[in-house]
Amino acid sequence: MNYETIIGLEVHAQLLTRSKMFCRCSTDYASAPPNTHVCPVCLGMPGVLPAINQQAVEYTVMTALALNCTISDYTKFDRKNYPYPDLMKGYQISQSYAPIGHHGWLTIEVDGEKKRVGIANVHLEEDVAKLIHITTFAPEIVISGVHPKPLPRASPDREAYSLVDVNRSGVPLMEIVGEPDIRSPEEARQYLIKLRSLLQYLGVSTGNMEEGSFRCDANISICPENSPEPLAKVEVKNMNSFKAVYLALEYEAKRQRRMAEEGKKLIQETRGWVEERGITVAQRSKEYAHDYRYFPEPDLPPLVLNRDWVEEIRSKLPELPEARRDRFVAEYNLPLYDANLLTASKAMADYFEEIRKINMSLSAKEISNWLLGEVSRIINANNCDMNEFRQRISPERFAELLVLHSEAAISTASAKSVLEEMFNTGKDAASIITQRGLSQISDTEVIEREVIVAIRNNAQAVADYKAGKKQSLKFLVGQVMRATRGRANPTLVNELLEKKLEEG
Ligand SMILES: [Zn+2]
Repeated sequence: MNYETIIGLEVHAQLLTRSKMFCRCSTDYASAPPNTHVCPVCLGMPGVLPAINQQAVEYTVMTALALNCTISDYTKFDRKNYPYPDLMKGYQISQSYAPIGHHGWLTIEVDGEKKRVGIANVHLEEDVAKLIHITTFAPEIVISGVHPKPLPRASPDREAYSLVDVNRSGVPLMEIVGEPDIRSPEEARQYLIKLRSLLQYLGVSTGNMEEGSFRCDANISICPENSPEPLAKVEVKNMNSFKAVYLALEYEAKRQRRMAEEGKKLIQETRGWVEERGITVAQRSKEYAHDYRYFPEPDLPPLVLNRDWVEEIRSKLPELPEARRDRFVAEYNLPLYDANLLTASKAMADYFEEIRKINMSLSAKEISNWLLGEVSRIINANNCDMNEFRQRISPERFAELLVLHSEAAISTASAKSVLEEMFNTGKDAASIITQRGLSQISDTEVIEREVIVAIRNNAQAVADYKAGKKQSLKFLVGQVMRATRGRANPTLVNELLEKKLEEG
């Protein structure tokens, strides 16, 4: 029996507003001591009244518009009731029945093929508090910048315990509910990359998955070929990187097929991804909407979105990734492939354009090659991102290095190692080049001397060259480069070698 994999993703993104969703508390809690960004509203005290954060509504409208959604004229908030220690009020204010945006789509590309993934809706809700569980087996936990000392570890004679940090409670959370249009883990990954990039372009969320400001839950089921009905829908949680989403979905698709083939019954349930073991485990049987006893939030009025305001937001939307990619092709004459990669990350695309603005004589293709090659390599090797790279090497300093390289003051190999040192030490290119004596040798006399040595020491290669084996020249160039520790100007070496070989 053949099965089709059916995936729908739900993404929660924390919005970059200054205050929380329904109170004035600051959202800038990342390095704040626990329980310092709190007030009666986000602590869930009885008798307090929430007020809607306009900026959060605006960011959600922006996102919904960028995702080609229809914007509702009339929206409202609902109470989603469930008891959990991280939910201060015992209910979450969410939008279940009248979301801000609905019926949109996001275009993804896998293996050169474009595909539209439907967006069921984009709505607003609030984040919950953070629980820190200390168990007997837990290693000592230090939350950087928060606790001067490690938290006391639970020990066999001391029971496990949990800590509650309410700072995150009430932070605006935008949920983007995708339609089950995704058919493979790779499509799921592309969808997330595309969506995160869009949120970063809009400036509405950091999209940082490791820090939890961009979270993804996945619904996955398999459907027998020629059957309209998929088997049981399974929700997978606890994935905190794009890679984890990919691996969890791949695991789950296989597990469900194996179960079906063995004739076992699949049940609708929630499963958690266990990163260390590379598996998903059952958490609880899936709840249904009626379990939450949704009802309209009585403390908030319905929200009517003024058409003119929505149109004003639409007219102010920034340039989005696809438009920027097309402009990069037209304006900088870059190949579509390069433009696609550069504009996938707003930070990378910004960095590219800044270097270009600093020095218009640098070739766009050259800058692109460096960013997609060496810079991406350094970022991956150091497990950091473009923002961190930028903090270590400003566009101005990067432009200086490229100028030195294009003026042939240093070889490509040297430029690469200078870049690495700039990243590691924060020094500028010129001082590293001076300190390490890396300046490229363009002195013909010096190079000629090495050329003569190379010809004298490699009679076989010379004979091969004269017999018509042109690739022997490469070998001889390599000998000269090695003798000059990579500092000789390769173009000059080539020219001089050819000349000498013709003469000899
Ligand atoms: Zn508050």
